Amino acid sequence: MDFFTDDHKLLRDTVREFAINEVAPIASEIDENERFPVETVKKMNDLGLMGIPFSPEYGGAGMDYVSYAIAVHELAKVCVSTSITLAAHISLGVGPIYYFGSEEQKKKYLPPLTSGGKLASFGLTEPNAGSDAAATRTTAVKDGDDYIINGSKSFITNAGFAETFVILASTGQKNGKNELTNFIVEKDTPGLIIGPPEKKMGWRGSDTRALTFENMRVKSDNILGSKGEGFKQFMKILDSGRISIAALSLGLAEGVYETSLKYANERKAFGKKIFEFQGISFKLADMATRIEAAKLLVYNAAKMRDEGKNIIKASAMAKLFASELAMWASGEAIQIHGGYGYLKDFPVERFYRDAKVCEIGEGTSEIQRMIIAREMLKEL
Ligand SMILES: Cc1cc2nc3c(=O)[nH]c(=O)nc-3n(C[C@H](O)[C@H](O)[C@H](O)COP(=O)(O)OP(=O)(O)OC[C@H]3O[C@@H](n4cnc5c(N)ncnc54)[C@H](O)[C@@H]3O)c2cc1C
Repeated sequence: MDFFTDDHKLLRDTVREFAINEVAPIASEIDENERFPVETVKKMNDLGLMGIPFSPEYGGAGMDYVSYAIAVHELAKVCVSTSITLAAHISLGVGPIYYFGSEEQKKKYLPPLTSGGKLASFGLTEPNAGSDAAATRTTAVKDGDDYIINGSKSFITNAGFAETFVILASTGQKNGKNELTNFIVEKDTPGLIIGPPEKKMGWRGSDTRALTFENMRVKSDNILGSKGEGFKQFMKILDSGRISIAALSLGLAEGVYETSLKYANERKAFGKKIFEFQGISFKLADMATRIEAAKLLVYNAAKMRDEGKNIIKASAMAKLFASELAMWASGEAIQIHGGYGYLKDFPVERFYRDAKVCEIGEGTSEIQRMIIAREMLKEL
């Protein structure tokens, strides 16, 4: 199956060149120093990546979801932190406003985010509501024309550098259930407290922080779509977002595979290249095979999304398979590199740490299996 048109191939080559020349040289430095590379965000914006799947009417590049997956995939081959910065911005930060915002909201908030170099964040997870995000405890209480928001969010990507946030809050109870509503929140809103950067195992060049809302006042006009639509909206956002985490995981797996193949073909033991030992070449054969399988899952899901098909199962399968592949392949890559794989001298050590969270963010592997199983039953 060939998912790529000539335009896709051109984009792939452009992002690949950018990744190799601009992103790879600082990848280990931003990881080491836990530094968020604002200069790379600017460069990605200049390249048109920050609004890649959105309409030019709102400042976007007007490309499709396959193109978006290509960009995330290519960046992750050299730097997973940079890739997640883009993926969280597009899927989680900008996506909700683009797909569910009113015309007025789109005109106001999208252009700075899609082509003005500003970043966006999505605050869904809370200290006591992660996989079960519908258990959101942040409250938004109506006060005249405004809402007063109180509560907190955990693990919010891009939070320290974001201009615009989309925040999920409970607007009360409806039919005995937590009624959920998304709000657009600007970074300077009084009562929005952005925490310090989290210290992480991986994705250390990506910004992750907690948010606290203390009597944060937002206008009713900042409701995304309509009151009570928050649950439906975030489920849709995550279905699409999973394709980008799958593309990121695929890029990571390909990155460690390429490095390991090269190393195995150079490193010698017992007078031979280690590639000549079946124990090593079989690992690489398995990696290459599973990478091909992941590519089919990822780009099939992206293409289905472009065709307007139901992607719930396809995106969960792509995310589950590719993220578990990333974890497995990066472990095998360290094994192939032997003791050197354990040192920071080779990028596989960083990729290994970057891989784990792929099985956690935007729905853990357990949650992906639950989604797939639920969809399987519907097909009976
Ligand atoms: C680096 C990083 C960046 C992130 N970025 C964002 C972001 O930008 N915005 C955002 O809103 N969130 C973000 N998250 C949060 C992420 O989506 C959550 O961590 C994730 O959804 C899991 O939630 P939790 O951590 O509360 O784990 P929990 O939900 O507490 O899960 C703990 C364990 O229990 C398992 N479990 C839970 N329920 C079930 C079940 N029904 N069946 C079987 N097993 C179950 C889980 O799979 C997991 O293994 C980020 C997280 C990290 C680490």
